[in-house]
Amino acid sequence: MDKVIVLIGAPGAGKGTQARLLDERRGIPQISTGDIFREMKTLDTPLAREVQDIMASGKLISDDLTYKIVRERTSKEDAAGTYVLDGYPRTAVQAKQLEDLAKEQGKEIVAIEIDVDREELMKRLTGRRSCPVCGEIYNIYSKPPKFDNRCDEHPESELAHRADDTEEKVKVRLETYDELTKPLLEYYDRSGRLKKVNGEGEIEDIYRQVTELV
Ligand code: AMP
Repeated sequence: MDKVIVLIGAPGAGKGTQARLLDERRGIPQISTGDIFREMKTLDTPLAREVQDIMASGKLISDDLTYKIVRERTSKEDAAGTYVLDGYPRTAVQAKQLEDLAKEQGKEIVAIEIDVDREELMKRLTGRRSCPVCGEIYNIYSKPPKFDNRCDEHPESELAHRADDTEEKVKVRLETYDELTKPLLEYYDRSGRLKKVNGEGEIEDIYRQVTELV
Protein backbone atom coordinates (compact mmCIF):
# COMPACT_ATOMS: atom_id res chain seq x y z
CA MET A 1 0.00 0.00 0.00
CA ASP A 2 1.27 3.47 -0.78
CA LYS A 3 2.13 5.63 2.17
CA VAL A 4 1.81 9.11 3.46
CA ILE A 5 5.03 9.62 5.38
CA VAL A 6 4.55 12.31 7.99
CA LEU A 7 7.70 13.82 9.47
CA ILE A 8 7.03 15.38 12.85
CA GLY A 9 9.51 17.40 14.81
CA ALA A 10 10.05 20.87 16.16
CA PRO A 11 11.19 23.59 13.77
CA GLY A 12 14.86 22.92 13.05
CA ALA A 13 14.69 19.19 13.76
CA GLY A 14 15.70 18.42 10.17
CA LYS A 15 12.37 17.45 8.61
CA GLY A 16 13.16 19.41 5.46
CA THR A 17 16.64 17.94 5.14
CA GLN A 18 15.40 14.37 5.47
CA ALA A 19 12.39 14.89 3.21
CA ARG A 20 14.66 16.36 0.58
CA LEU A 21 16.95 13.32 0.74
CA LEU A 22 13.99 10.95 0.37
CA ASP A 23 12.95 12.95 -2.65
CA GLU A 24 16.40 13.08 -4.27
CA ARG A 25 17.47 9.52 -3.55
CA ARG A 26 14.28 7.51 -3.46
CA GLY A 27 12.07 9.62 -5.70
CA ILE A 28 9.49 10.09 -2.95
CA PRO A 29 8.07 13.57 -3.56
CA GLN A 30 8.66 16.04 -0.73
CA ILE A 31 5.63 18.12 0.05
CA SER A 32 6.48 20.98 2.36
CA THR A 33 3.68 23.33 3.38
CA GLY A 34 6.28 25.84 4.62
CA ASP A 35 7.96 25.88 1.18
CA ILE A 36 4.62 26.24 -0.59
CA PHE A 37 3.67 29.18 1.64
CA ARG A 38 7.09 30.78 1.15
CA GLU A 39 6.66 30.53 -2.61
CA MET A 40 3.52 32.62 -2.25
CA LYS A 41 5.82 35.48 -1.28
CA THR A 42 6.31 36.34 -4.92
CA LEU A 43 2.59 36.94 -5.36
CA ASP A 44 1.08 40.29 -4.53
CA THR A 45 -2.46 39.36 -3.58
CA PRO A 46 -4.27 40.08 -0.29
CA LEU A 47 -4.15 36.38 0.59
CA ALA A 48 -0.43 36.12 -0.14
CA ARG A 49 0.21 39.20 2.02
CA GLU A 50 -1.82 37.73 4.86
CA VAL A 51 0.13 34.47 4.64
CA GLN A 52 3.40 36.39 4.75
CA ASP A 53 2.36 38.36 7.83
CA ILE A 54 1.33 35.24 9.73
CA MET A 55 4.51 33.40 8.75
CA ALA A 56 6.71 36.30 9.74
CA SER A 57 5.11 36.28 13.20
CA GLY A 58 5.96 32.60 13.72
CA LYS A 59 2.30 31.61 14.06
CA LEU A 60 0.33 29.10 12.00
CA ILE A 61 -1.76 29.62 8.88
CA SER A 62 -5.42 28.55 9.24
CA ASP A 63 -6.16 24.83 9.10
CA ASP A 64 -8.60 25.19 6.23
CA LEU A 65 -6.30 27.15 3.94
CA THR A 66 -3.45 24.76 4.73
CA TYR A 67 -5.67 21.78 3.99
CA LYS A 68 -6.72 23.25 0.65
CA ILE A 69 -3.09 23.62 -0.32
CA VAL A 70 -2.17 20.09 0.76
CA ARG A 71 -5.15 18.62 -1.01
CA GLU A 72 -4.33 20.40 -4.24
CA ARG A 73 -0.62 19.54 -4.11
CA THR A 74 -1.15 15.87 -3.27
CA SER A 75 -3.59 15.45 -6.14
CA LYS A 76 -0.83 16.14 -8.68
CA GLU A 77 0.44 13.23 -10.70
CA ASP A 78 3.83 12.91 -9.02
CA ALA A 79 2.09 12.33 -5.67
CA ALA A 80 0.00 9.41 -6.93
CA GLY A 81 2.16 6.95 -4.96
CA THR A 82 3.95 7.40 -1.66
CA TYR A 83 4.80 10.98 -0.70
CA VAL A 84 6.41 12.63 2.28
CA LEU A 85 4.86 15.52 4.18
CA ASP A 86 7.26 17.88 5.84
CA GLY A 87 5.58 20.31 8.22
CA TYR A 88 2.05 18.90 7.95
CA PRO A 89 -0.08 18.16 9.95
CA ARG A 90 0.69 20.60 12.74
CA THR A 91 -2.61 20.67 14.66
CA ALA A 92 -5.23 18.14 15.77
CA VAL A 93 -7.66 19.47 13.16
CA GLN A 94 -5.06 19.04 10.41
CA ALA A 95 -4.35 15.48 11.59
CA LYS A 96 -8.04 14.68 11.26
CA GLN A 97 -8.23 16.27 7.81
CA LEU A 98 -5.20 14.26 6.72
CA GLU A 99 -6.77 11.09 8.04
CA ASP A 100 -9.72 11.58 5.68
CA LEU A 101 -7.52 12.59 2.76
CA ALA A 102 -5.25 9.55 3.14
CA LYS A 103 -8.27 7.28 3.30
CA GLU A 104 -9.68 8.84 0.16
CA GLN A 105 -6.33 8.39 -1.60
CA GLY A 106 -6.07 4.78 -0.39
CA LYS A 107 -2.84 5.37 1.54
CA GLU A 108 -1.63 4.50 5.00
CA ILE A 109 -0.06 7.06 7.29
CA VAL A 110 3.34 6.44 8.85
CA ALA A 111 4.49 9.11 11.30
CA ILE A 112 8.17 9.56 12.09
CA GLU A 113 9.25 11.73 14.97
CA ILE A 114 12.60 13.46 14.58
CA ASP A 115 13.74 14.25 18.09
CA VAL A 116 16.23 17.03 18.85
CA ASP A 117 17.18 18.75 22.10
CA ARG A 118 15.85 22.30 22.62
CA GLU A 119 19.20 24.07 22.93
CA GLU A 120 20.43 22.44 19.73
CA LEU A 121 17.26 23.57 17.93
CA MET A 122 17.85 27.20 18.89
CA LYS A 123 21.36 27.06 17.41
CA ARG A 124 20.23 25.33 14.26
CA LEU A 125 17.46 27.81 13.57
CA THR A 126 19.13 31.07 14.43
CA GLY A 127 22.27 29.97 12.54
CA ARG A 128 20.43 28.64 9.50
CA ARG A 129 21.07 30.23 6.10
CA SER A 130 20.01 29.02 2.68
CA CYS A 131 21.06 29.54 -0.91
CA PRO A 132 18.35 31.42 -2.82
CA VAL A 133 19.42 29.65 -6.03
CA CYS A 134 19.60 25.94 -5.14
CA GLY A 135 18.07 25.81 -1.66
CA GLU A 136 21.18 24.28 -0.07
CA ILE A 137 21.08 24.79 3.69
CA TYR A 138 24.08 26.05 5.67
CA ASN A 139 24.59 26.88 9.32
CA ILE A 140 26.94 29.59 10.54
CA TYR A 141 27.82 27.45 13.60
CA SER A 142 27.91 23.89 12.32
CA LYS A 143 28.09 24.01 8.51
CA PRO A 144 29.51 27.34 7.38
CA PRO A 145 29.93 28.00 3.65
CA LYS A 146 33.46 28.21 2.20
CA PHE A 147 33.07 31.89 1.41
CA ASP A 148 31.50 34.31 3.82
CA ASN A 149 27.70 34.20 3.52
CA ARG A 150 27.74 32.74 -0.01
CA CYS A 151 26.76 29.35 -1.37
CA ASP A 152 29.70 27.10 -2.33
CA GLU A 153 28.03 26.36 -5.65
CA HIS A 154 26.37 29.72 -6.30
CA PRO A 155 28.65 32.42 -4.88
CA GLU A 156 26.94 35.08 -7.01
CA SER A 157 24.15 35.56 -4.50
CA GLU A 158 24.22 36.04 -0.73
CA LEU A 159 22.71 33.41 1.54
CA ALA A 160 19.22 34.13 2.85
CA HIS A 161 18.23 34.25 6.51
CA ARG A 162 14.55 33.45 6.99
CA ALA A 163 12.56 36.25 8.61
CA ASP A 164 11.15 33.75 11.10
CA ASP A 165 14.59 32.38 12.09
CA THR A 166 15.37 35.24 14.49
CA GLU A 167 15.59 34.41 18.20
CA GLU A 168 12.29 36.09 19.06
CA LYS A 169 10.35 34.35 16.25
CA VAL A 170 12.00 31.02 16.93
CA LYS A 171 10.68 31.19 20.52
CA VAL A 172 7.14 31.69 19.24
CA ARG A 173 7.52 28.82 16.75
CA LEU A 174 8.79 26.43 19.44
CA GLU A 175 5.93 27.39 21.77
CA THR A 176 3.46 26.81 18.94
CA TYR A 177 5.05 23.41 18.35
CA ASP A 178 4.78 22.42 22.03
CA GLU A 179 1.20 23.55 22.32
CA LEU A 180 -0.35 22.40 19.04
CA THR A 181 1.89 19.91 17.25
CA LYS A 182 3.51 17.87 20.01
CA PRO A 183 0.18 16.30 21.07
CA LEU A 184 0.07 14.67 17.62
CA LEU A 185 2.90 12.37 18.68
CA GLU A 186 0.63 10.78 21.22
CA TYR A 187 -2.19 10.65 18.69
CA TYR A 188 -0.12 8.63 16.21
CA ASP A 189 1.48 6.55 18.96
CA ARG A 190 -1.89 5.47 20.33
CA SER A 191 -2.84 4.09 16.93
CA GLY A 192 0.53 2.31 16.61
CA ARG A 193 1.73 4.43 13.71
CA LEU A 194 4.52 6.40 15.36
CA LYS A 195 8.22 5.66 14.86
CA LYS A 196 11.04 7.67 16.29
CA VAL A 197 14.52 8.62 15.18
CA ASN A 198 17.20 10.51 17.05
CA GLY A 199 17.61 13.76 15.11
CA GLU A 200 21.03 14.64 16.53
CA GLY A 201 24.22 13.54 14.85
CA GLU A 202 25.20 13.04 11.24
CA ILE A 203 22.59 13.71 8.55
CA GLU A 204 23.52 10.45 6.81
CA ASP A 205 23.02 8.41 10.00
CA ILE A 206 19.63 9.97 10.57
CA TYR A 207 18.72 9.33 6.94
CA ARG A 208 19.65 5.66 7.37
CA GLN A 209 17.31 5.43 10.37
CA VAL A 210 14.52 7.12 8.40
CA THR A 211 14.85 4.87 5.35
CA GLU A 212 14.67 1.78 7.53
CA LEU A 213 11.23 2.93 8.64
CA VAL A 214 9.66 3.72 5.28
P1 AMP B 1 8.26 25.65 8.18
O1 AMP B 1 9.12 25.97 7.02
O2 AMP B 1 7.72 24.25 8.12
O3 AMP B 1 8.91 25.94 9.51
O4 AMP B 1 6.98 26.59 8.07
C1 AMP B 1 7.11 27.99 8.11
C2 AMP B 1 5.79 28.66 8.47
O5 AMP B 1 4.80 28.32 7.48
C3 AMP B 1 5.18 28.22 9.80
O6 AMP B 1 5.73 28.91 10.90
C4 AMP B 1 3.72 28.58 9.54
O7 AMP B 1 3.49 29.97 9.63
C5 AMP B 1 3.52 28.17 8.08
N1 AMP B 1 3.14 26.74 7.99
C6 AMP B 1 3.86 25.72 7.47
N2 AMP B 1 3.21 24.54 7.58
C7 AMP B 1 2.04 24.83 8.21
C8 AMP B 1 0.93 24.04 8.64
N3 AMP B 1 0.90 22.71 8.45
N4 AMP B 1 -0.09 24.68 9.24
C9 AMP B 1 -0.09 26.00 9.43
N5 AMP B 1 0.93 26.80 9.09
C10 AMP B 1 1.98 26.23 8.47
